[in-house]
Amino acid sequence: MVKEQTTELQDIVSHCKKLGYIYQSSEIYGGLSAVYDYGPYGVLLKNNIKEYWWKAMVQMNENIVGLDSAIFMDPKVWKASGHVDAFNDPLVDNKDSKKRYRADQLIEDYIQKKIQKKIDKDVNKAHKRFGDSFDKQQFLDTDQRTIERTKKINGILSRMNKALNTGDLADLRQLIIDLEIVCPHSGSKNWTEVRQFNLMFSTQGGGATSEDVLYLRPETAQGIFVNFMNVWNTSRQKIPFGIAQIGKAFRNEIVARQFIFRMREFEQMEMQFFVKPGEQKKFYEYWKEMRMKWHLALGTPPENLRFHNHETLAHYADAALDIEFQFPFGFKELEGIHSRTDFDLSSHQELSGKKLQIQDIETKQHYVPYVVETSIGCDRMFLATLSQAYNIDLAPDSKGELKERVVLKLPPAIAPVKCAVLPVVRVNKALTKTAKKIFDEIKYSFNCQYDEKDAIGRRYRRQDQLGTPFCITVDEQTIEDNTVTLRERDTMKQERIPAEEIEKIVSKRVDMSSLLKQL
Ligand code: ATP
Repeated sequence: MVKEQTTELQDIVSHCKKLGYIYQSSEIYGGLSAVYDYGPYGVLLKNNIKEYWWKAMVQMNENIVGLDSAIFMDPKVWKASGHVDAFNDPLVDNKDSKKRYRADQLIEDYIQKKIQKKIDKDVNKAHKRFGDSFDKQQFLDTDQRTIERTKKINGILSRMNKALNTGDLADLRQLIIDLEIVCPHSGSKNWTEVRQFNLMFSTQGGGATSEDVLYLRPETAQGIFVNFMNVWNTSRQKIPFGIAQIGKAFRNEIVARQFIFRMREFEQMEMQFFVKPGEQKKFYEYWKEMRMKWHLALGTPPENLRFHNHETLAHYADAALDIEFQFPFGFKELEGIHSRTDFDLSSHQELSGKKLQIQDIETKQHYVPYVVETSIGCDRMFLATLSQAYNIDLAPDSKGELKERVVLKLPPAIAPVKCAVLPVVRVNKALTKTAKKIFDEIKYSFNCQYDEKDAIGRRYRRQDQLGTPFCITVDEQTIEDNTVTLRERDTMKQERIPAEEIEKIVSKRVDMSSLLKQL
């Protein structure tokens, strides 16, 4: 039975802390802003997400190989990539509250709260009025008020993007003033100039002189580009082929908010696919579809995912889009897919003086490959997974009365704990002994827990909150005929199975290959 609900970000934050999924960094000292630590269950879930991505990329594709490059790189890497000169956020301060904001985010928030919300409200109203026959697209195309509002949004976005692309910070500020945007804290319109702020963290190298500046990488991709020739020379791959990497990235996000959505230290899962110039469009379309399939295989409803094409492109891209997920705070970027041309390899070739070219087998001509990139934040994927999984429904208590239960409906293949073994009562030593024996037998195959504390109903609730897909209950009948009950988390249905088949049955249902086979 499903209860109508909307999940707030705060529910997820509290749940993560309570269950040991995520803690704020250095919490005993008050907490370091926008930096988080993964607790005992968090690290398991995060590792499973990474494993799913890695297998989908490296194991499933003969033409993709892995890499683990260092966080520190020669500072010239960041000069060539454009990060030293252009990895900036436009910031503006409110003079009254002294709070700092990203100018583009202030404008996007304005659009969302002041215009888009009204469109959504009208769509919902019309939906209610017309029922099943309601055609949303037709409404958006024909309702006069909605057309006007959409036009206004497009006008604002196009002015903002033009200002961002041309570096016209004065006009960006003027747009904030023209829209009469107020500071959410002070309510005032007293804004400073807009300034660019570089997002890279830097530190000192061994020599500790100003020339020894080292950057903490703001993306993992450059480690792949500078190793392109090494991998090419050693991996016996042919074009097209890809290099995949999972690793930490660091960005000095000034306006860090929304929990692990925007962090200063985070993890990326990136794959650069090297193709012949001219073939980038074909592979861009291919990876766009493949990446969406990867998300959908987890059981995420299609209406919670969407493509968002970039209207204005970064200097290095000839096409780009985001896969957006409906987070508790709206549709936001979860993953980026970018056709990066030969920008990165050509820039590194120029600055390093080393050839980053390969020879076309047919024409014998040398060329710098083009690149299609898929880039997803592991932490953002973690938040999307939890947002999707977090549910409150109704479950019978020990007296059969329906009570609210919090349940994480995580896909079994990535759930941190796959199975809990529970003797129905603790006092019966024969039951606890048998349950422990079962636990000791199945723990070799997947991550499981043994729990004998509290009434059985409470123990089920504990596992539901954790997202454990299966509970094995050992009762009197187990002693008689060596069968146990297997309880499924979402439906709460129980089936009686022979104890010697637990390992086989659960392994099959939590196997990651069930996800990979859908790709
Ligand atoms: P945004 O516009 O949200 O700042 P971006 O376009 O700068 O993101 P990319 O540079 O394309 O992001 O990075 C690829 C992916 O890395 C993003 O889709 C996101 O999942 C993740 N990511 C980027 N910045 C952060 C961050 N500060 N915290 C957590 N994940 C991040």
